[in-house]
Amino acid sequence: MGCIEHKKSPATNGDSDLFAGGEKVTVPDFNAFDVMEPRFPEKTPVDRRNGKHVKANDIPPEGVYLPNNNILAPHMKSPEYVQLSNAAAITLGIMGGRMYRCECTRCLNLLLTYPEGCRANCAYCGLARHREAERDYADRNFIRVDWPAVPMTDIVDIVAKDPENSPFHRMCISMITHPRSEEDTFTVLQQWTDKIDPQAIPVSILSNPTTMTRADVQRTKDLGADIFTVALDAATPELFDRTRGKGVQSPHKWKKYWDTMLEAKDIFGPQKFGAHIIVGMGETEYEVLNLVQELVDLGGHSHMFCFFPEEGSLMDHLPATPRDQWRRVQLARYLIDYRDVRVDHMTFDDEGRVKSYGIANSELSDIIDAGIAFRTSGCPGKFQDDISACDRPYGDSPPSNIASYPFQPKKKDIKKIRKQLDIPVAVEE
Ligand code: SF4
Repeated sequence: MGCIEHKKSPATNGDSDLFAGGEKVTVPDFNAFDVMEPRFPEKTPVDRRNGKHVKANDIPPEGVYLPNNNILAPHMKSPEYVQLSNAAAITLGIMGGRMYRCECTRCLNLLLTYPEGCRANCAYCGLARHREAERDYADRNFIRVDWPAVPMTDIVDIVAKDPENSPFHRMCISMITHPRSEEDTFTVLQQWTDKIDPQAIPVSILSNPTTMTRADVQRTKDLGADIFTVALDAATPELFDRTRGKGVQSPHKWKKYWDTMLEAKDIFGPQKFGAHIIVGMGETEYEVLNLVQELVDLGGHSHMFCFFPEEGSLMDHLPATPRDQWRRVQLARYLIDYRDVRVDHMTFDDEGRVKSYGIANSELSDIIDAGIAFRTSGCPGKFQDDISACDRPYGDSPPSNIASYPFQPKKKDIKKIRKQLDIPVAVEE
C-alpha cells in the first residue's frame, strides 16, 4: 500500500503523521464539519427519566459526596449543595490528590446540582440529559473530571477565613439548564457575597440563557457578579443547532444565546462579558476567529476550549481537535483578543486554515516564546489581564498531550508548541 494522504495541510507537522503497517499516513490536521456528526440520543427508560431512580431512594445527603462512592447518588440539591471540580476540591483541601505540574487551581468553579440534572442534551457534554439512562447525575464526568458535591456553607466557611490570601483569584457559578437554576444562582451568589468581599475574590457567572430573562441578568450584577459569560460553545448557528439544539433534542437556540450576551454587554459593560467557544467541532478556523473578532468588536472576550471527546457523550466516538488546528486558533485568538490584530489582517487557505497571523515574524516569535497565548483562557485573575484565573487543569486534554496549559509553559513546552504550529525558531544571522 502506498502513502495515503487525506487532507494534507500546508502546515502538517509531526502530530499529524501516523505510521500504519510501516506506511506513512497523513491524517487530517483539522476536524471537518462532515466528520464531526454527533450520535442521536437514545430513548431513556421511563424508570430512569428525570432522576426518578435517584429520587425514589430519597437518601438524605451527608456532607461531601465523592462521585462513585455510592451506588445511588444522594438526594442533593442546589442551593444547599453545589458540585465543584476535582482541582477546586483539592485546592480547598476537601479532597486529597495532586495535579500534574500544578500546585492548585486559581478558580473555584461551582456547578449547580439536582438529582434530575441538566435538562439539556448538548452532544459534547458529560452532563447531558441522555446520560440519565446509565449514570446518576452526581456521578457524571464533566470536562474530563469528576465533580464532588459539597454543602455550599462548607465552601463559603473555608474561603471566608482569609479571602485576601486565598489561592482562588475568582469564583464562577455554572448554571446548567434547570427550572430552578436562576433562583438558586441568586441564592448561591448571595451566600458568597454575604461573607466574602467580591473585591477580594470576584465572581463570574457562566449563564444558561435558555431560561433567563434580562431581569435575571441584571439581578446577578446587582448581587455582586463581576463578569457574565455565555456558553455559546458552538462557533456557528448550524453547529449550534446540530450539537445543542434540534439535532440532539436539546432546547437551546443560537439567537437566545446572542440576545442574552447583548443584554450582558449593556448591563455589565466592556470587558465584563464574553462567550465560551469550543474549537474543533466542525467549524473552520476562519469561522471561529471571525466570531472571536465579533466579540472583541462588541467589547467582550472569548474563552476557548479544545474539543475533547468526553466519555459517555454523544461525541465520544469523534477525534479530539488535532493540536496543529488548536494551536493556530489559540495563537490567532490571543492576537485578536490582546494584541489588537484583526482577523482581516490574517490570511487563510481554501479550507479556512490560518496561513499568516497579520503581524511581523519577529513579534509573532516573541509572543510564541512568551507562552501566555497557549495557557488556558478565561476570566482574568490577579496576575495580569491576559492570564486567566480559570486554569481548568486538563479539562480539554490529557496531561500527556496538553491543549490548554494550566501553568506557564516552559522551554520544552514552547519547543513542542512551535513544532505543532510548524513555526520553527528563526536562525539568527
Ligand atoms: S446546558 Fe451546559 S451542562 Fe447542560 S448539557 Fe448543555 S453544556 Fe452540558
